[in-house]
Amino acid sequence: MMSADGLPPLREVVEKYDLAAKKSLGQNFLFDLNLTGRIARACGPLEGATIVEVGPGPGGLTRALLSEGASQVIAVERDERCLPALAEIESAYPGRLKIVHGDALTTDWRALVAGVQGPVRICANLPYNIGTALLVGWLESDPWPPWYERMVLMFQREVAERIVATPAERVDYGRLGVLSGWRTKARILFDVPPSAFTPPPKVTSSIVELVPRETLLDCNGKILTAVTASAFNQRRKMLRQSLKGLAVNGKTIDALSLLKAADIAETKRAEEVDVEGFVRLARLAAEMTA
Ligand code: SAM
Repeated sequence: MMSADGLPPLREVVEKYDLAAKKSLGQNFLFDLNLTGRIARACGPLEGATIVEVGPGPGGLTRALLSEGASQVIAVERDERCLPALAEIESAYPGRLKIVHGDALTTDWRALVAGVQGPVRICANLPYNIGTALLVGWLESDPWPPWYERMVLMFQREVAERIVATPAERVDYGRLGVLSGWRTKARILFDVPPSAFTPPPKVTSSIVELVPRETLLDCNGKILTAVTASAFNQRRKMLRQSLKGLAVNGKTIDALSLLKAADIAETKRAEEVDVEGFVRLARLAAEMTA
């Protein structure tokens, strides 16, 4: 039986093109149209919007984004076995789907969306093995505001919790929480059970929404990353110890002077410092090594 978009059901597509899931490519496919529709609608009003999707696979989420009204989907897929299935979707939605056969880790995103009219958003059921690397790359985009106006992304629940964590959730709070809190407002929208995927992964997944902050707490991103890396590398230690040896701009910083200048007690641990505190440390570290 055909789906509402005139395309065959996804299970048939996977069979027809022999798309046995590859673990090395983080392939866990979604076949449930209610779920893919819900994820697509989480991207906000789709009319007039261009959606960048990483890893369309057999195209479940791609089809949902198009049938829910996205003006255009630009989808980057590494697995060439998926290309014929995606070409069928391209024919069903003429002029609205652009398939790029390539590696998302080396994609030049700004070049990809150059000349696009209207808002650009990112929506993806990310391959779990490169999800965090892709997110960090998007969060570190320069210049800011970035080329996207929203991200709606699927992660393993444990990663999602680290993305939205604040000092209140000490166990999960770390470099990822500081980086996403500095650049975006992030929240978990809903969970997706293992049974929703083929093959089912071992853990629950979550859909996370990240909306870029327009005005940023001002600091150099690379220095912020260096400070948080140093602080969280020894997260159980007090900052006077974990920041010892911190080097910025090729110069080692005196941890005690830095903490004093930032008005942060030297006995605190990294997990007790909020994003504003880390931004202060990064700004002062830049000043002290200029
Ligand atoms: N979007 C599909 C769905 O929801 O059913 C598939 C999602 S599956 C979790 C991840 C997809 O990312 C796979 O299609 C896989 O081939 C693709 N992928 C893995 N590594 C990639 C990379 N480096 N660049 C682009 N796509 C990649």
